[in-house]
Amino acid sequence: MRITGKTKLAGIMGWPVAHSRSPALHNFWLDEHGIDGAYVPLPVRPEELAPALLALPMLGFRGVNLTIPHKRMALSVVDRVEPLARRIGAMNTVIVGADGSLEGRNTDVYGFRENLREGAPDWKPTRGPAVVLGAGGAARAVVAALIEMGVAELRLVNRTRGRAERVAEELAAPRGGISILPWEARDAALKDAGLLVNATSLGMTGEPDLAIDLALLPPSAVVADLVYVPLETALLAAARRRGHCCVDGLGMLLHQGRPGFEAWFGAPVRVTRELRAAVLTTLAAPR
Ligand code: NAP
Repeated sequence: MRITGKTKLAGIMGWPVAHSRSPALHNFWLDEHGIDGAYVPLPVRPEELAPALLALPMLGFRGVNLTIPHKRMALSVVDRVEPLARRIGAMNTVIVGADGSLEGRNTDVYGFRENLREGAPDWKPTRGPAVVLGAGGAARAVVAALIEMGVAELRLVNRTRGRAERVAEELAAPRGGISILPWEARDAALKDAGLLVNATSLGMTGEPDLAIDLALLPPSAVVADLVYVPLETALLAAARRRGHCCVDGLGMLLHQGRPGFEAWFGAPVRVTRELRAAVLTTLAAPR
């Protein structure tokens, strides 16, 4: 990368932000396309989010991604929020318009959908109920994506029931279709399911593994894990042993970056084997 007087800028705001793999992702694409651009980590304290976002047009930034803890708070700072991000209650991408206005988007829904399409091309929303474990920010994006893709029955399983109830209230399709199940019912929830998604933080390095018995899951069901450190979680390893089609979480991370990159830098990008390898190298590196 070479910084010139005309370098186009974007970045990621978070607190902390040093762990983020987004700089590796976006700078790979910038290099690949030979674009005079840079994508930088921006450590921004929660209490300074509003002035930092409002300064983006003045500093010449084309936009930013947002990570923890800014995804919800930013909704009240930007000038416009796309309806999907408003419904989910979180945004992860800011686009600076030609007039200096700020637009908020949520690209996790896109990331999940594209990753599922790529990793499980034969999966159909009609294959059976989808079981989603978790009711945090990531689960909201998954639920919104599955509804958008046409899944008729969604079983939402979460440790804290009230949180799952809020997700169902805020995201369910007009005809309903989301049932809430207690955490203890997660094994039984798999009966006749066509898709299982782990959207909890269980299985992540430093967290306990997800304890679940897959015995009732039909062999045709797809198993997706949003956790990408490690890439092969205990859940995916167990599902693979049973012969399920498995989708890891790295692809979601990579695909969710595409809409922002394309808006900021004006070039279409793809998720390739080389990109996965480059980002995987950073996952293996100590932080
Ligand atoms: P979050 O908002 O903190 O939600 C965490 C979820 O995990 C909640 O549903 C929580 O249940 C559940 N959970 C945590 N510990 C648990 C335990 N011991 N037993 C049962 N449930 C437990 O986090 P998030 O932002 O949704 O992220 C969730 C995971 O998705 C993380 O691993 C994150 O890295 C991953 N993620 C991946 C991508 C990607 O691009 N691949 C994108 C976003 C997130 P309660 O509601 O009961 O607390």
